[in-house]
Amino acid sequence: MKIDLHSHTRHSDGHLSVTELLERAATMQVDVLAITDHDTLAGVSEAQDYLSQSGSKLQLISGVEISTRWHGFDIHVLGLHLDHKDPQLLVRMEQQQERRRQRALKIAEKLEKCGYQEMYAKAEELADGGQVTRAHFARVLYQLGQVKDMQQAFTRYLGKGKRAYVAPQWITLAEAVEWIHDAGGEAVLAHPANYDMTMKWLKRLLGEFATAGGDGMEVVHGNLAKDKQRTLAMLAKEYQLKASVGSDFHFPSRWTELGRNLSLPEGLTPIWQEWRLGPQVAV
Ligand code: MN
Ligand code: MN
Ligand code: MN
Repeated sequence: MKIDLHSHTRHSDGHLSVTELLERAATMQVDVLAITDHDTLAGVSEAQDYLSQSGSKLQLISGVEISTRWHGFDIHVLGLHLDHKDPQLLVRMEQQQERRRQRALKIAEKLEKCGYQEMYAKAEELADGGQVTRAHFARVLYQLGQVKDMQQAFTRYLGKGKRAYVAPQWITLAEAVEWIHDAGGEAVLAHPANYDMTMKWLKRLLGEFATAGGDGMEVVHGNLAKDKQRTLAMLAKEYQLKASVGSDFHFPSRWTELGRNLSLPEGLTPIWQEWRLGPQVAV
């Protein structure tokens, strides 16, 4: 049984269309997949339509990855197993998208001061109807031959404190949890090992997230070393959070794949424990 509760499509910064993502999930023998685009649920609806017509056995979990701001850190909270047609949630996601758009326009302005022209238009073209994110600007810079890889685009221009950095205006951690609960979902702290913070800060984050009513945390996420997984498993127990697993798949590469190496360490409560998953995924 393969469960992957974190993936992206072209509706945000993933490279695959919804159909391509679902086909790839089938190829990788994923049984349960959550689509969790950044601040949009458009991919979930599209995937449902596709699956109901294709007769696929893949079980789709509705999801979203919400950007929040916490003590200067950009913290991502996954909303899983929620009502993706909840009108209030859809309005709230539109607000988030508008914030992202305003930020992208400011980033483009700063990049133009660095000598790069028409950056918003170029990033928008890459986004292909989806939201323009920093990753798109990184790809434009890479394609222009201005940086040697995506990472360098962040260390030179887009990262915190660099020339084209614009601080985001996201909602708080507690608001994200509330929004997710209002739509009937479970709030899961995304990729806790990726925030580049000390253990002291991470514990503070988990404590506040749990106090705000957060339900779970990712314990196994894309390419996480075993020792870090063990640490996260220990923290999930300490803060009494349920455990989630997800590849954070954006595009096929040597390092990321749907459903790969995502088995949950023992002794944890899976976030999907009370979901009605089909018989083939009884746990
Ligand atoms: Mn992303
Ligand atoms: Mn994320
Ligand atoms: Mn993600």
